[in-house]
Amino acid sequence: MSKTVSIAFIGLGNMGGPMAANLVKAGFQVTGFDLSASHLDQAKAQGVAAASSAQDAVKAADVVITMLPAGKHVLGVWQDVLAATKAGALLIDCSTIDVESARAAHALATGHGLTALDAPVSGGVGGAQGATLTFMCGGATTDFARARPVLEAMGKKIVHCGEAGAGQAAKICNNMILGISMIAVCEGFALAEKLGLSHQALFDVASTSSGQCWSLTTYCPVPGPVPTSPANRDYQPGFATPLMLKDLALSQDAAQSAGAQTPLGAKATELYQRFLDSGASEKDFSGIIAMLRS
Ligand code: NAD
Repeated sequence: MSKTVSIAFIGLGNMGGPMAANLVKAGFQVTGFDLSASHLDQAKAQGVAAASSAQDAVKAADVVITMLPAGKHVLGVWQDVLAATKAGALLIDCSTIDVESARAAHALATGHGLTALDAPVSGGVGGAQGATLTFMCGGATTDFARARPVLEAMGKKIVHCGEAGAGQAAKICNNMILGISMIAVCEGFALAEKLGLSHQALFDVASTSSGQCWSLTTYCPVPGPVPTSPANRDYQPGFATPLMLKDLALSQDAAQSAGAQTPLGAKATELYQRFLDSGASEKDFSGIIAMLRS
């Protein structure tokens, strides 16, 4: 896809703002819209042309990207903009939303003769700023191929997971594994403390043994063994607890509608809800170790 293509970017928050800025840096023409005037102003300072509405943003766009809080926002915006979108345009939703809404968004686009991709991301705000996100994509192979050069300007790894909704399915399954594995690692450290085993000793053994996982080796929930993990800065996010709980709740909705048994996913959701209720809205999700200790 040539960089002379015009991109509309709707939802210029913590993730969307830096993602749109990276598209500008890569040479794309980007027109943005956000309900928040301050987010729109910040994007403008990064070279994004500010539109007066979502419809205004999409009217000349070859690619429309949304990065919004939840499924209802995505469906609402897509419903609003579809009639104003150019024939032949590709819609890409990068938000993390439920699989059913993702499939409904695809159906809305195809109902208007347009094509669509669900392309949620992992990598957080740091990945959005550094253009190192992983994109998990659901949709037709031809649409994935069209989207790839645009996504490559914002990310490092672009994976085609399957048909409509498959990107969201991959994201939700991955983050359910993450929520469960973080609790497992925290419990391991909490037990080690009671047994008089040092954090470093457990880390040295488990990081090269069968307990090895990302929650331990990249995101260690105790200070010391991995100096870059949030545990070393009083659990400042990172990946904030409300976002982990959001993704776990999506996994449980998906499990219920698909008839899948996810007992540990359900328990992790319950534990993260308790952690959030205890006042952890500003804490990284690895901070749950404090609650598990007590
Ligand atoms: P955010 O709240 O910072 O940004 C969302 C933006 O959408 C806000 O600026 C808001 O004003 C705007 N918005 C809401 N409704 C709108 C509408 N109708 N029209 C135009 N703009 C509208 O959230 P975020 O952290 O950027 O997250 C966005 C998505 O990315 C979420 O689905 C989130 O789950 C996902 N995500 C976030 C992270 C992270 O670390 N923050 C990581 C991976 C995925």
